Amino acid sequence: MADIFGLSLPELQDVLEPFQVPKYRARQVAEWLYQRGAQSFGEMTNLPKTLRVRLNEELSIGRPSAAGRLDSVDGRTTKLLLEFKDGTAVETVLMRQPYGNSICVSTQAGCNMGCAFCASALHGMTRNLTRNEILAQAVVINDMLREENGGKVDTVVIMGSGEPLMNYDNVLGFIRLLHEDYVLGLGYRNFTLSTSGIVPKMYDLAEAGVPISLSVSLHAPNNELRNRIMPINRKFPLEDVVAAARHYAELTKRRVTYEYILIDGLNDGEPQAKELVKLLHGQLASVNLIPINPVRERNLLRPSRVRIESFEHYLAAHKVVVTVRREMGADIQAACGQLRNRHLEQEMQK
Ligand code: SAH
Repeated sequence: MADIFGLSLPELQDVLEPFQVPKYRARQVAEWLYQRGAQSFGEMTNLPKTLRVRLNEELSIGRPSAAGRLDSVDGRTTKLLLEFKDGTAVETVLMRQPYGNSICVSTQAGCNMGCAFCASALHGMTRNLTRNEILAQAVVINDMLREENGGKVDTVVIMGSGEPLMNYDNVLGFIRLLHEDYVLGLGYRNFTLSTSGIVPKMYDLAEAGVPISLSVSLHAPNNELRNRIMPINRKFPLEDVVAAARHYAELTKRRVTYEYILIDGLNDGEPQAKELVKLLHGQLASVNLIPINPVRERNLLRPSRVRIESFEHYLAAHKVVVTVRREMGADIQAACGQLRNRHLEQEMQK
């Protein structure tokens, strides 16, 4: 049976064609799927009863199910483990921020970038998620917020497990679809995509006509160190990544954010701060410092507060716009991939 969850309006129109219904029915179905939380055709009460019965016989609505849920003690962060039809599970995180509800979606089940500090890399990559599976994460959380208190998803960060630019078409399709008024109608400015630096795709994204914010995972100010902690740097070296980010900023007029995980004794000293300032000189960019979330399986530690602050102050004193990421949900293993890993390990023990 054809699964219609995640289809665009034109695609829904095609699927409904054999049912010989007026065109506006497709929009009604879309609104039920994406804005009104319908789990079945029976609920779509503005469709004629006979149509509902026929749709039910021939089509299905494949919403992912929540295989796990964790709420932080302060109630502001919720992490869902969503399971798709084939049993693949991914993490989606909701952060109730003062400026709105922000969600973090995954684009791949696992990841094969192999970054030394990242929990998503531990079990490699299972597969790319489809456009519809990425969309489902946003819709499921939006439904949850609506039921909670009439809330909605306000911003989306594409920073969950996976490298989004290694799944480019599905990710771009997801952004465009979520932007549609019959889905969530989210403005492009409310999206942020984070990449480890897949250079050719960064250029493609600049041309794609979706002026979203770009974050680049830098984590080191020179090739020698970046090669050690991010194997992808051997393919796309630092200077090419920075040039692509600079091009993105110039073309879209959007400030690029460089993410820089601070790891004790590795990349958090004054020499590295100095190199970083030099590297980013004159760019429309900001740096987001992320004190590492220690991953149990890796022996990388978080620097002391003093070291974090001196790194921050060095950048600020040299006119680099810098912020330190506030931590949310550390008590629920919100660090990338940690919940999914626990799940995989439990599955393996069965
Ligand atoms: N592959 C993309 C998106 C996923 S990672 C990318 O590399 O940007 C999203 C962000 O979380 C990246 O900046 C990543 O480096 C960071 N991250 C991964 N593991 C982390 C950890 N243990 N502590 C803090 N941040 C981490």
